[in-house]
Amino acid sequence: MQTIQGRCECAAVAFEVAHIRDTVTFCHCSQCRRTSGHYWAATRADFSDVIFTKDIGLAWYRSSPTSRRGFCKLCGSSLFYQPNGANHIAIAAGCLDLPTQMRAGKHIYTADCGDYYTIPDDAPHIPD
Ligand SMILES: [Zn+2]
Ligand SMILES: [Zn+2]
Repeated sequence: MQTIQGRCECAAVAFEVAHIRDTVTFCHCSQCRRTSGHYWAATRADFSDVIFTKDIGLAWYRSSPTSRRGFCKLCGSSLFYQPNGANHIAIAAGCLDLPTQMRAGKHIYTADCGDYYTIPDDAPHIPD
């Protein structure tokens, strides 16, 4: 648990997060692969611990009946995932400032992974 800063590529979305989780979950589901361009790598925090210092680029996409995804409408960065009504939010690890001091946590939806890569053995694999 630590406080860290993050932003999209163009900086139209910038934020800081207290008490952010120190592990990264890799999701190989088809929805994450399409929205992120590969597989989604995200950590997690309570939504109330996320402070937006700039949000003019922030937009939300209703990605399923039960969740939404936050992205920058100016540069296209994929930033957040949040189930409906959840008090937590998944935050893209790639948008965080270095050093994150995070480590690989687990790979999920590994049964849905793309056919063009091999999932690394850096963390447990959970098929679905
Ligand atoms: Zn941006
Ligand atoms: Zn996913």
